[in-house]
Amino acid sequence: MRRAVVVGGGWAGLSAAWTLAHTGWAVVLLERRPVLGGRAFSFWDPRAERVLDNGQHVLLGACTAVRSWLRSLGLDAAIRFEPRLDLPVFADGFWGRLYSRPWPGGLHLLAALAGYRLLTPRERLALGRAARGLARPAPDAMSFRTWLLDHGQSPHAIDRFWDLVVTAVLNCRADEASAALATQAFRLGLLRGAEPARLGFFRWPLGQVAHRIGKALEGAGIRIRLGTAVKAVRAVTPASVQVLLDDGTELHADAAVLAVPPDRIGALVETAEPAKHWQSLGWSPIVNVYLLYDRPVDAPPVFALADGEGSAFVFDRDHLLGAPPGRDGSLLAVSLSAARSWLGRPAAQLAVSVAEGVARAIPAAQAARLVYWRVVWQRRATFWARPGCETIRPVDPRWHPSVVVAGDWTGTGWPASLESAVRSGQAAAACLNGLPPGDHGPNAA
Ligand SMILES: Cc1cc2nc3c(=O)[nH]c(=O)nc-3n(C[C@H](O)[C@H](O)[C@H](O)COP(=O)(O)OP(=O)(O)OC[C@H]3O[C@@H](n4cnc5c(N)ncnc54)[C@H](O)[C@@H]3O)c2cc1C
Repeated sequence: MRRAVVVGGGWAGLSAAWTLAHTGWAVVLLERRPVLGGRAFSFWDPRAERVLDNGQHVLLGACTAVRSWLRSLGLDAAIRFEPRLDLPVFADGFWGRLYSRPWPGGLHLLAALAGYRLLTPRERLALGRAARGLARPAPDAMSFRTWLLDHGQSPHAIDRFWDLVVTAVLNCRADEASAALATQAFRLGLLRGAEPARLGFFRWPLGQVAHRIGKALEGAGIRIRLGTAVKAVRAVTPASVQVLLDDGTELHADAAVLAVPPDRIGALVETAEPAKHWQSLGWSPIVNVYLLYDRPVDAPPVFALADGEGSAFVFDRDHLLGAPPGRDGSLLAVSLSAARSWLGRPAAQLAVSVAEGVARAIPAAQAARLVYWRVVWQRRATFWARPGCETIRPVDPRWHPSVVVAGDWTGTGWPASLESAVRSGQAAAACLNGLPPGDHGPNAA
């Protein structure tokens, strides 16, 4: 039996380990933290008396690799998908609504966009031109904002519609996003009909999901070592690797998967290139603000705020986790993606500003008393999807014949996401199994 060491217990490492174990490898997974899940984790908040996530994670129906992987682990109950997209959006004192009709391709949004009150009638008409352009690949070196302006979109339409979507999907505003990746994300999630555009939410806190994935992996014979940091990985021959742990001990295997973020790879391997190149991707932050009210505030389970500084998505946390409504008041999770402009602001100022934004949209939140807030910063949330990023992301995960890389940042064609992480793990395993680079997920031809 060939032996593989997987470094990193995020979703990429977990998916690589599972795929390798199911293709005949004996697998050891090493994770430096005491828990699995990587950048999708939870913690107990004693004041809120709840388990909170480091950031609300949302899936799309298009996330087929995550869905089928969880199904194969016996964990399909972890996610609940909305029957179809239905997202209220509040801006400038008005509510708009983005919703799907059961019509093919991008047409599923036609009715919603034709009546989208946050854009002028002229701006709504102009959406058609951009929609046609989205069908074709766009240049990676160009910003998505430039692409949108070239396709007849006004700055106001970018602010009130495009930025809302692209910030949520790419964690990057249109002016700092790669046009190639942004248009690809629209093609994957929004232009293939109503099914791929549905939103999906975890029924359990992220930490619990990762824990259960770990149990399923152990059930498949994978050895998981938590609290085990890897110091170096050395490719000894094309078919053997040496893995040096922080505690000085060594492991030997036939191959290794480095499922760690791009800026950690350089420290693990001897050669600077291409790790230095990958590291140049950089990071984009996300901040989540939890707001606990003394009574139910009767907010939609999920809605977006597109006024104020940038956009925000608001989630009724108890509702999503299936807790009885208003058990102890309402807990809203407000997610601000592409949060660079908020860095350095005092947490209290941020919480007040976010609570004011929510109160403008939800009258009951004005009347309710905010009894507790918590700001959760993730400075290294996702790679920075700026122009040029797609040329940096490696499509071929092979770093050496016996060492491959995995992670949401690799060239999966997906934005940084759980879907990208799972696909990258599958691609890394496929590579060690001698398959050519490409799509090895459930969508593979
Ligand atoms: C706030 C926030 C909100 C998000 N929202 C969404 C969302 O709505 N939808 C979505 O799909 N995605 C979302 N994401 C992105 C998603 O969480 C990531 O894309 C995904 O978790 C990345 O997984 P990964 O395995 O590639 O990397 P990671 O999760 O970073 O895993 C890498 C692992 O390697 C470990 N490691 C590093 N160095 C070593 C070492 N030397 N030895 C051993 N172990 C090591 C780390 O501890 C870590 O566990 C969000 C992320 C954040 C932070």
